[in-house]
Amino acid sequence: MKRDVVNFNAGPAGLPSPALERAAKELLDIEGTGMSIMEHSHREKTYEKIHAEAKNLVRELMGVPDTHDVLLLQGGASGMFATVPMNFLAKGKSADYVNTGAWSEKAYKEAKFFGEPRIAGTGYVNEKPVHIPKQSELDLKSDAAYVHLTSNNTIEGTQFRDFPDTGAVPLIADMSSDIMSRPVDVKKFAMIYAGAQKNLGPSGVVLVVASKALIESGAKNIPTIFRFKTAAENDSLYNTPPTFGIYIMRNVLLWAKELGGMTAMGKRNQEKAAELYSAIDNSNGYYRCPVEVDARSEMNIVWRLPSEELEKKFAAEADAAGLVGLKGHRSVGGMRASCYNAVSLDGVKRLTTLMKAFKEKNG
Ligand SMILES: *Cc1c(COP(=O)(O)O)cnc(C)c1O
Repeated sequence: MKRDVVNFNAGPAGLPSPALERAAKELLDIEGTGMSIMEHSHREKTYEKIHAEAKNLVRELMGVPDTHDVLLLQGGASGMFATVPMNFLAKGKSADYVNTGAWSEKAYKEAKFFGEPRIAGTGYVNEKPVHIPKQSELDLKSDAAYVHLTSNNTIEGTQFRDFPDTGAVPLIADMSSDIMSRPVDVKKFAMIYAGAQKNLGPSGVVLVVASKALIESGAKNIPTIFRFKTAAENDSLYNTPPTFGIYIMRNVLLWAKELGGMTAMGKRNQEKAAELYSAIDNSNGYYRCPVEVDARSEMNIVWRLPSEELEKKFAAEADAAGLVGLKGHRSVGGMRASCYNAVSLDGVKRLTTLMKAFKEKNG
């Protein structure tokens, strides 16, 4: 078995080996039932226990208060771009969208089907997505249905460090690419959502943490399956959930708990990011991070080399050395190392070692 690669893919991303090893062991027969978890009814105890455990681990690790529900949905984060305004944005009403990159913009566009979203702040400077707006730069309206932001910009490599105070207006965040990567004060948010495939598990599961008041306020005249209230009232078992994905997510959360929870995870991610940014910053300009220093993401670290030829060569050499998934998003080029939770500091050090050697040879 070859698992000595370091997986820097942006998503779906690497998963911690212990979570997969357990799945491998239990794949054909879970708990002596003679069946795979995939073959169990979602209405019987073998699955129900895992479902509850996954939700409880989210609660425990994120410190979700009693005012909030934990939901496990489908449709990807992209589905949420539509269901958020479908539930919470009425015709003729506005919502404030902070546009810090491609995913923010997609969310904003979906909201236009339901109401009049406004762009209330931007991460673009001279048309480049290198910035994270401060509170004072946001133009927030007190009559907005909600404020929507993207906590981490997966493609652009920027990340909110502090979140704006939106007063009485509900704050909704797409945390797909930095969910559970650091401690976050859940109380500040009316809703946090994330596709699981970056930090939590396989694709096919969407984690939603939302205030009960927000869920209750959702539109009633939309299809049952798209109401957050339906999921809340039915313990995310209104219809068949993605049982295998939730099972893997449970395994991943157990791993995160064993590692020490969000405080330990935050420290680990900070150390990884510091290692990589210092390799970039100490290269005498050979490697260049295009993002403003205080907007730098700890999850998706982007950088350029002196030419596209060298970038291609670097990606090929990295690949050959077992460091995979380093090509930047096709819309921006350059390099990107997605250092999600499952990537270790040792993995990042293999990358920085290669960067130093590559510069020596090609600099
Ligand atoms: C990956 C990603 C998405 C898209 O997620 P899907 O589950 O594929 O719809 C949305 N937002 C952010 C910030 C992402 O990183």
